[in-house]
Amino acid sequence: MSALVISNPVLSNTAYLVAAVLFIAGLKGLSHPRTAVRGNLVGAVGMLLAVVVTLLQQGIMSFELILLGMLAGAVIGAVLALKIQMTAMPQLVGLFNGFGGVASVLVAGAVFYQAVVAMLGAAGVQAVAPGLQFTIATASSGLIGAVTFFGSLVAFGKLQGIVTEKPVRYPGEQVVKVLVLLLTIFFGVLVVLEPQQINYFWYLAAAGSLLGVLLVMPIGGADMPIVIALLNSYSGLAAAATGFVLSNNILIIAGSLVGASGIILTRIMCRAMNRSLANVLFGGVGAVVESAAQDDIYAGKVKATSAEEVAMILKSAQRVVFVPGYGMAVARAQTPVRLLTELMEKDGIEVEFGIHPVAGRMPGHMNVLLAEENISYDKLREMDQINPAFPATDVTIVLGANDVVNPIAREASGSPIAGMPILDVDKSRTVVVIKRSLAPGFAGIPNPLFAADNTLMLFSDGKKAMDDLVTAYKDA
Ligand code: NDP
Repeated sequence: MSALVISNPVLSNTAYLVAAVLFIAGLKGLSHPRTAVRGNLVGAVGMLLAVVVTLLQQGIMSFELILLGMLAGAVIGAVLALKIQMTAMPQLVGLFNGFGGVASVLVAGAVFYQAVVAMLGAAGVQAVAPGLQFTIATASSGLIGAVTFFGSLVAFGKLQGIVTEKPVRYPGEQVVKVLVLLLTIFFGVLVVLEPQQINYFWYLAAAGSLLGVLLVMPIGGADMPIVIALLNSYSGLAAAATGFVLSNNILIIAGSLVGASGIILTRIMCRAMNRSLANVLFGGVGAVVESAAQDDIYAGKVKATSAEEVAMILKSAQRVVFVPGYGMAVARAQTPVRLLTELMEKDGIEVEFGIHPVAGRMPGHMNVLLAEENISYDKLREMDQINPAFPATDVTIVLGANDVVNPIAREASGSPIAGMPILDVDKSRTVVVIKRSLAPGFAGIPNPLFAADNTLMLFSDGKKAMDDLVTAYKDA
């Protein structure tokens, strides 16, 4: 094995630099659907290089154990990725963040333990004291990693329905959180000042775990994807701190990139919902759901339609826009969407897709589903691009979307989505809404669009409705 060991730091640091460039190129690729697959591959190659070089740098470790760990991880990862439903992707990502956090805690803890043993020397007499950078990095890794792990477990539980989706609020909540935060800081300071007491590190991790639970429990299930993006950023910071513990440059770089990209994603999501991060974290949105006005809004005004009637309307249209939402993902209706698009385009109808940045349950959710069907990116329009075009649109088909087309966001203040920019589908000549009932979307509020004069409701499962529409369009 020794022939394989890289002992020249210039060589390993050069390889790390190449890996870092590949990470950045990979992230750049991920910023557009067209280059995303290549970007993913480039990033993965960078990670492979980083892992291989790191392993070859260490002359004394057991490669058998590492290979066993990698094999077990690969099998678990592959099974999870294959079995998971597309709609459950946010909680899987959340769980992965959590694993990253706990890995940082354990690695930092193990290295800290080694350092403390070396420091105390065989006879318990102080030998070499660990440096300040090392102890601060260890404390940071323990704290952030533990918050990430337990916060992610709660986020996973909320999205999976194991923990209540409702914000768990109680009197004195903020005081309790501040006290636990102070406790973690206290143990963090002790880790730095008295590193020989290894137990302080584990007390710090325990207090951080409690803080993770307390921070995420008061946040409603609807906001969990934002919390997961934020925890993703935390997991990166924990990894970067562990990089300082290990003096491993590539871990510092990779962790910083994850930390920065996670926070950028969090910001994009907050902006798309017109919410501040503070409002997401401390606002407890979702605690009270306004449903009183539902009857007033819908009574006697909702017009149901059939696939045959919609097919007739489509036949005479020149421009049609699809607005997909969470329901399309649940129903897995994207295949008949493509088929209908192809049929309409053959008839010379212009078809586009209006994609809201928070449609579905994770950023890019709709883009991924439509890309699965090879629907050209050129037809996908972002909110700002498509909104001015709705008045010139003959038919807009809203497929399983609700909150992202709810005009209440424009009008009423005080609703959970007030101020959220929406797709102005109600400005189209005719709107066809496909969903199973008048049930609200994730924000839990009624939608006046369903009762608008120019709206027709096609009550059905999204996949069945689209299959019926394809058949009816062919027959019309
Ligand atoms: P919504 O959650 O507002 O509405 C989805 C609609 O789909 C429901 O009203 C439901 O109505 C319908 N539906 C469910 N199953 C089916 C089915 N099988 N067939 C047809 N329809 C179905 O979805 P949107 O995409 O409009 O909005 C996303 C929401 O998620 C927003 O509130 C957003 O803020 C939130 N969110 C999104 C994030 C993201 O990153 N994308 C992150 C955080 C939050 P019915 O039961 O009657 O069928």
